[in-house]
Amino acid sequence: MALSRRHFLKAAAGSGLLLAGGAQPGRAAGSAVPAPEAVGILYDATLCIGCNACMVSCKQYNTMPGGALEQEDGSLPYEHITPAQIYDAPVELSARTLNIIKAYKSGRGTNKDSQADGYSFIKQHCMHCLEPACVSVCPVAALQKAPDSGIVFYEAERCIGCRYCQVACPFGIPKFEWGKTAPRIRKCQLCRHRYAKGGYAACCEFCPTGASLFGPLAALRREAKNRLAATPGSAYDFPVRTVDSGVSQRRPVSRYIDQVYGLAEAGGTQYLLMAGVPFELLGLNPAISEQAYPQLTWDYIRKVPALVAVLIAAGVASHMITRQRAPEKAP
Ligand code: SF4
Ligand code: SF4
Ligand code: SF4
Repeated sequence: MALSRRHFLKAAAGSGLLLAGGAQPGRAAGSAVPAPEAVGILYDATLCIGCNACMVSCKQYNTMPGGALEQEDGSLPYEHITPAQIYDAPVELSARTLNIIKAYKSGRGTNKDSQADGYSFIKQHCMHCLEPACVSVCPVAALQKAPDSGIVFYEAERCIGCRYCQVACPFGIPKFEWGKTAPRIRKCQLCRHRYAKGGYAACCEFCPTGASLFGPLAALRREAKNRLAATPGSAYDFPVRTVDSGVSQRRPVSRYIDQVYGLAEAGGTQYLLMAGVPFELLGLNPAISEQAYPQLTWDYIRKVPALVAVLIAAGVASHMITRQRAPEKAP
């Protein structure tokens, strides 16, 4: 959808005035206390076998309908441009990959979930922060946090392409479609389209071990604490797919590090992680603050309002040009 002149003027003037005046668009987005209906994902690295089913199902249900082998129009996928190249094996998050499994290895790499001579998997995607910095800095509310589910979602029609969300996110999650004439920001939206129809996160539905588990955030927090309290080696019934599915797999509890990543990080998130290896070794930011990032971000932005206003105005202009040149459907 092309941005109308009225919307352009409103966005550009609004962003400039907001910043010049010290106002903080979207600042109130989210709350340190999640809504009772808030949902999320618990990822347990000790259950993960690195099969990548979550990545494939994420692509199939989100990034490009048709999954790893074709695009919406039936053409070859993503970066593959010749008929011989039909295998998609991303190594980083990108505008085409919203969820990634990575591996950690040390020494001989023989001991699962151990730091010494060990290995572990880790799954990265949007954390769905309780107080998301990306939402707080978006001058046109293209990124929003749903008040009930707490899902942080994106509306391409509003986006002016300023990419300030990319700078603000403490986890480096939002990606920009650099190769497209009408680029969008891409990130995990917790399969919001499936949730609205009674479904849930594809990565959890297709995870064979329960390593990726969907459910109400309160229940996921309880489940994580129960696992931490269990004796390593004792039998435990690990739920699969959703925390309240009634389906579980019995297996011994691994030795966890005493931390559930996401309970406190960045003020709390709706994606929680557990592991047997310290999270900084798994590639998660060890310097992450426990303070919500909107405040930290705006403390910085306040010092450079003119620069930000220029960037936003440039983004608006760029958006108008590209959208007029090649209108594109949102997914
Ligand atoms: S992880 Fe980044 S993109 Fe996701 S909600 Fe938090 S600030 Fe936004
Ligand atoms: S919740 Fe959906 S969009 Fe997010 S990582 Fe899982 S499959 Fe991908
Ligand atoms: S589907 Fe489950 S077990 Fe397989 S890589 Fe993803 S999180 Fe790990």
